[in-house]
Amino acid sequence: MSLFKTLETSTETKKDIISATPAERVRCLIIGSGPAGYTAAIYASRANLKPLLIKGIQPGGQLTTTTDVENYPGYPEGITGPKMMEDLEKQATRFGADVRWGIATAADFSKSPYKVIVDEKQVLEADTVIIATGATAKYLGLESEDKFKGSGVSACATCDGFFFRGMDVAVVGGGDTACEEALYLSGLCRKVYLIVRKNFFRASIIMQQRVFKTPNIEVLFERVPKEIKGDQVVQEAILIKRQGQPDETEETIKIDGFFLAIGHTPNSEIFKAYLDTDETGYIKTVPGTPKTNVPGVFACGDVQDKVYRQAVTAAGSGCQAAIEAERYLGHNYQLT
Ligand code: NDP
Repeated sequence: MSLFKTLETSTETKKDIISATPAERVRCLIIGSGPAGYTAAIYASRANLKPLLIKGIQPGGQLTTTTDVENYPGYPEGITGPKMMEDLEKQATRFGADVRWGIATAADFSKSPYKVIVDEKQVLEADTVIIATGATAKYLGLESEDKFKGSGVSACATCDGFFFRGMDVAVVGGGDTACEEALYLSGLCRKVYLIVRKNFFRASIIMQQRVFKTPNIEVLFERVPKEIKGDQVVQEAILIKRQGQPDETEETIKIDGFFLAIGHTPNSEIFKAYLDTDETGYIKTVPGTPKTNVPGVFACGDVQDKVYRQAVTAAGSGCQAAIEAERYLGHNYQLT
């Protein structure tokens, strides 16, 4: 599911909404409330840009779906994802960021000031826009997967792998992420099953070779997860082997953790008409910067990063976006 619904109205209707509704004008509009969005808000408010942050459909972003965050610098005892987001919001509002509930449903970046529609009705005009809408991890859609989210089911090995030290886990997926996550987990866990639905990997050869060379990773090709079972926490997964073939069978693996690595969907849909994106929808930025192809529109966090995807890297790029917004306004705008 995308964080932001696209506006399911015709172009004419969108134009009608944009022209009919009186707009609120801001210097810096931040869309999204994960580590990238809040960090951008902290920096932008301290730079007196009076940012307005629109929270989006999953306030707090992906971290609110995890339990403990132990790899964010500065928290020696760890912190829960929701608490960390609460603290980031407080830090942003302390310096005057205007944080509001709402979902960005359409955007018009054809000319400055840029327009963003919130909740399909309110028009915001902004001199700079910082897009921090994140990416949504894909799940298989199993009922049991939902039931065990946070109790053994995770879509981020780097975030949650530590909780499965010395245990047996499964990773689902056949791409580079799945291989990377399996390799990461192999250093922590006793055994890692890598569940691949085809009889070959999509991952690059080098990643495949690393996987095959790792003694505690067992690759299970042609397997599709059917159900995850357990009492309070994950205890086993039922897999269908060679689904749809005459020799289709079911098998059970005993596991403590079940990791999804079947891809992410960047939440960039409503910006695609104006911003360059790659073939999978990630917003393209000038390397090493948050600059998009539209001057004054910046992208930070997971919506433009398919490699690192960490809270700390998202926060860093949110900082960069706010600094660039400040520089852009300094060059293009008379502060009133
Ligand atoms: P990909 O889209 O490359 O791979 C997704 C994998 O998940 C595929 O093997 C796919 O299977 C499988 N999959 C999808 N849906 C299901 C499902 N419902 N059930 C079972 N399996 C499913 O995503 P990645 O996140 O791996 O990579 C995204 C991009 O990021 C790629 O370009 C990758 O190269 C890059 N990347 C690079 C890294 C690096 O260079 N170190 C690290 C991580 C990512 P199937 O093959 O059958 O379609």
